[in-house]
Amino acid sequence: MARKMLVDEEMNQTNQEEAYYDFDLFVIGAGSGGVRAARFSANYGAKVGICELPFHPISSEVIGGVGGTCVIRGCVPKKILVYGAAFGSELEDARNYGWELNEKLDFNWKKLLHKKTDEIIRLNGIYKRLLSNAGVKLFEGEGKIVGPNEVEVTQLDGTKLSYSAKHILIATGSRAHRPPIPGQGLGITSDEALSLEDLPKHAVVFGGGYIAVEFASIWRGLGANVDLFFRKELPLRGFDDEMRAVVARNLEGRGINLHPQTNLTELIKTDNGIKVTTDHGEELIADVVLFATGRLPNSKRLNLEAVGVELDNTGAVKVDEYSRTSIPSIWAVGDVTNRMNLTPVALMEGTCFAKTVFGKEPSKPDYSHVPCAVFSIPPLSVVGLSEEQAIEQANGDVLVFTSTFNPMKNTVSGRQEKTVMKLVVDAETDKVLGASMCGPDAPEIMQVLWHCCCTEVWSD
Ligand code: FAD
Repeated sequence: MARKMLVDEEMNQTNQEEAYYDFDLFVIGAGSGGVRAARFSANYGAKVGICELPFHPISSEVIGGVGGTCVIRGCVPKKILVYGAAFGSELEDARNYGWELNEKLDFNWKKLLHKKTDEIIRLNGIYKRLLSNAGVKLFEGEGKIVGPNEVEVTQLDGTKLSYSAKHILIATGSRAHRPPIPGQGLGITSDEALSLEDLPKHAVVFGGGYIAVEFASIWRGLGANVDLFFRKELPLRGFDDEMRAVVARNLEGRGINLHPQTNLTELIKTDNGIKVTTDHGEELIADVVLFATGRLPNSKRLNLEAVGVELDNTGAVKVDEYSRTSIPSIWAVGDVTNRMNLTPVALMEGTCFAKTVFGKEPSKPDYSHVPCAVFSIPPLSVVGLSEEQAIEQANGDVLVFTSTFNPMKNTVSGRQEKTVMKLVVDAETDKVLGASMCGPDAPEIMQVLWHCCCTEVWSD
């Protein structure tokens, strides 16, 4: 309540003081959240500047690119590789549908990689155009905050530009980190995994989250041997337990070797490849080891402590429900705040920020019922509560409806892979609390379900 009054009060101020600033808003980071907030703020009439690091598919502290993680080294390139990988099993299945294919199917990794890179370069250009069409001034360089209303941009040649802004928005995202084990430098992160020169013959993936599961599926789908190591009993912690088991079964069914409750302890370079040792005493040789063990907020080089912006113990920028930091003129959206690290969420936070600060409409992001997908092959998609969450949160009984069936396509192809669907329902009100599906086209089906139901049944 106190916070809302502060926001309302600010919006009623006259525009007089804005004349003293170079910009009404300066955004650091032109990824999903930053671009959305910059464009929408400019559409409300704000004078907006934004800075972004130079483009490259593999990020570092000084490399990035307009479009951000999702476009350059996240959702988009990953999905392109998933599409590519899914053709492998489709072609296998086609044999029983009468397609005469040679025994050996050829696959050209470099061609797929090239197409992927072309697409992210195209999207990088589109994002730049979106900004310029909205009248947002783009600076290429590393941004840093030097005061509550002051930013500094270090350009490629080392020259520094300084600007004042009534509001500053931190939208610098997150970066993958490697676990602190001996030989960690021999492993790669998802950035490099999306740009490998050669397709791995034997890949080790360490991690149980969606990124680990997706890369394991991509490489296996393209013909590599894959070993997936994770700390829990099942991959995808946080998802519905029954669906986690379905995904694990499917990964195994597709030929991925699962190693639950196992940590990697050391990587050593050998003549035959990277020797991987586990805490169960296993040893194996791989040509690629992917660490998909989590991401950390990109907040280290922004000078935030010096200006009084509070961080939590993971380095995430602390914000209130309107995305405002501990310094009233400084705001933050997206992965750098470590709330719900997904692109549509960063977009929602950017939209709410623009509405609140420049649209005279205080708006809080709503984190309930955010649908999400795991692009394993076949994919998993969920919206709302898992069975475990529903039981924990519901006042009364919860009804669980599951349906398991063999997709008709599999009857002829002979593929042994069931589709599983699940609805979790409040027994007293019949209100749907959550839905999950693992099977072909699950993300599209769940998206439709979300559109049909969430605003009606779920939003009261
Ligand atoms: P980003 O998009 O990361 O943008 C931050 C930008 O800030 C970057 O461009 C960076 O270069 C720039 N920057 C950093 N520091 C500075 C600085 N000092 N000065 C100037 N610029 C700076 N989400 C989904 O919803 N669906 C998916 O399928 C999905 N798949 C993913 C797959 C992978 C492999 C990864 C890694 C992520 C995936 N995500 C997915 C997550 C999604 O990419 C992020 O949640 C989203 O990009 C966050 O947006 P953001 O604006 O917070 O940060």
